[in-house]
Amino acid sequence: MQHKTEHIYDVIIIGGGPAGYTAGIYAARASLKTLLIEGATTVSQITVTDLIENYPGMPEGINGFELVQLLRKQAEKFGLEIKQGDVASLAKEHHDGKEAWRITAGGDYLTFSVIVATGANWRKIGVPGEEVFTGKGVSYCATCDGPFYRDKEVAVIGGGDTAVQEAIFLTHFAQKVTVIHRRNRLRATKILQERAFANSKIRFIWDSIVEEVAGREFAEGVKVKNLKTGELSNLSADGVFVFVGLTPNTQILRGITDLDENGYIIADGNMHTSAEGVFACGDCISKLLRQVVTACGDGATAAFSAQLYVEALKGEAY
Ligand code: NAP
Repeated sequence: MQHKTEHIYDVIIIGGGPAGYTAGIYAARASLKTLLIEGATTVSQITVTDLIENYPGMPEGINGFELVQLLRKQAEKFGLEIKQGDVASLAKEHHDGKEAWRITAGGDYLTFSVIVATGANWRKIGVPGEEVFTGKGVSYCATCDGPFYRDKEVAVIGGGDTAVQEAIFLTHFAQKVTVIHRRNRLRATKILQERAFANSKIRFIWDSIVEEVAGREFAEGVKVKNLKTGELSNLSADGVFVFVGLTPNTQILRGITDLDENGYIIADGNMHTSAEGVFACGDCISKLLRQVVTACGDGATAAFSAQLYVEALKGEAY
């Protein structure tokens, strides 16, 4: 199908987190016609992170929502166009004899290149009661729901950075925070571990998983199984916070780019994916370290790669 007269972007970025907005800053500043589509019904995970304390140059730390607002402001200053929409599909087509991509997200958009920065979402534990009590005691966001548990008892499931950092945050509200972890040592970084171990409101249940979230109208507790002894016990909890890792938001890429065994996009060091004209960055790609700083770095590289690709496609490479 040819669309000679249709407006075409140089770059469309999918995703409104640190990776997407950094790509937006670089692409718009390089005078590429750039549109960023951010989720209409989803938010970047970082916007619900209370404190980012390891982003370089910010010794006091910064709130995640505030950081994204600043990134957005900076991108808009360079002329980035922003729309809200949930991307439903991505399809290759030809425009004026050149390869292009059509993106459907409420409206229909045509672009020479795509930068995927869709991030990842919280993984579920998939036990009885988890879904029923979501929003009624089961939560995936301490910043959003922590204040509901003032002077109450909460359980945190997981042993990574998120679980431990959010467990510490929850002690601002709850009188007792019990971390239930499936192994006998934490995956979280040392500094977070030390803070958690030193916090008198936090206790740990090791080598254990949650088999069920129980309650009536709201969650009231969890059934815990010790994996070493098989012993079952019940723990009372007004809130159950699940932080067991991430699932990449890459469903729209299935059949378009190569994904790894966990569904993360395989991108090379220059953020090229296996599909020509499609670049990827941030938490949705297969990589070692998922942090704001690495997401921003990926975003800048993806934008520069997209710039080189578009210039070559248009015969404007220098
Ligand atoms: P993560 O590092 O993948 O940790 C997930 C945790 O959940 C692990 O402890 C894992 O146990 C446990 N788990 C996984 N599936 C489970 C299940 N079905 N039942 C019970 N437990 C289960 O995920 P994350 O903590 O969300 O972190 C994601 C990324 O963000 C990481 O790269 C992390 O470093 C980064 N992050 C960094 C900071 C920071 O720097 N301050 C803060 C938050 C997140 P095992 O340990 O046994 O595998």
